[in-house]
Amino acid sequence: MNSVSVRQSLRGRSSAETRSAILDLIRSSGEITRVELSRRAGLTEATISKVVNDLIASGLISASGRAESTGGKPATFLRLDTSTLAAVGIVLDLPHIVIVLCAIDGSVVGSVTISATREDEPEVVLERIAAGISELLDLNGTTPDRVIGIGVALSGRRSYRGPNPLDWWENMAIDKRLETLTGIDVLLENDANCAALYEFWSGGIPPGHDFAVVYAADGIGAGIVINGDVYRGRSSHAGEIGHVYVDRSETPCWCGRRGCLEVTGTPSAIARRTRDTPELFAGLGVADDDSTRAIYAALAQRASAGEPNALKLIKEAAEYVATAVVGMANTLDLGLVVLAGPGFAGAGPLYLKAVRAALDATYIRSVHRVEVRLRSVDPNIAALGAASLVLHRRLTPHHAA
Ligand SMILES: [Zn+2]
Repeated sequence: MNSVSVRQSLRGRSSAETRSAILDLIRSSGEITRVELSRRAGLTEATISKVVNDLIASGLISASGRAESTGGKPATFLRLDTSTLAAVGIVLDLPHIVIVLCAIDGSVVGSVTISATREDEPEVVLERIAAGISELLDLNGTTPDRVIGIGVALSGRRSYRGPNPLDWWENMAIDKRLETLTGIDVLLENDANCAALYEFWSGGIPPGHDFAVVYAADGIGAGIVINGDVYRGRSSHAGEIGHVYVDRSETPCWCGRRGCLEVTGTPSAIARRTRDTPELFAGLGVADDDSTRAIYAALAQRASAGEPNALKLIKEAAEYVATAVVGMANTLDLGLVVLAGPGFAGAGPLYLKAVRAALDATYIRSVHRVEVRLRSVDPNIAALGAASLVLHRRLTPHHAA
């Protein structure tokens, strides 16, 4: 992002917006001097100093002197203060609910895992989660008053008409109940949007850089960040690429149409196809009653090892995903696509290769390059993203305005 666009956007803004935007510049820079901040924000050094002093007093940033490599007098560098405030992120997934504690730069301070099954009452599980948060804060020497919020990542969208991973939680006001149990504000968001916010907050992505995170767990969805905030569309279903047409063999989908990514290229769809292919299923070393996730993980591992039948299925899935991603990248004129989530953990490089090849051969490539990154290493990315949601909403609220 160039300094001219920042200058234009910061002049005449309210003090809260200016404060948010300056904090955003510090976050995305890693560390920055007051002089550079003043140049990039297009504001006077006096204005910058006032905002910076306020941010230091609030415990959001810290300043330290250091000699520059070129010699000369020591400069003061500003960076996010990771020692005082924190955010909690939770991914509401069964059978393991992960809770992470993050510093305000999105780095992980600690985590705990809670077990829960479909047979458990949601109320009992929420009480377990509240106890887990309390334990996590104790273990890391922090207190609820230093936690600026709890973010909860829900798998998938809440208004699915199809096989709903969330039916277990239905009619439960998770946020209100968890707020009562913990005394801390709670924000809810779907897992793909959380993963996108994690990328934005922790990946050093400047506010003007539009991108999408394709998040795969059991299903696949995209979190789209436009102008520094998640693009939700009319009903928070933007990025729902599961019902993009990708498959000419026209497999029927529960949505009423045929050939959707949802029934052909998602980890759960691939696991179903594996279960229906006895000779492949028999060689995976999984039991009949194992979860679709366990079956998919075994298949992805076989594919990575080069087993031909497994490889064929995963390569097909990767082509379907690539088709959906190309449509999205062309439509939105994206410069960056990130593949993330547990669904890419086993055979991520195969997906990366297919998506890259497809984007290199499509229309938008004639205009500019579309970078593709794989970020599958952390299976807790949705929980980290939920913490990033809190940081994003609480620390830089101008994005939501
Ligand atoms: Zn469909």
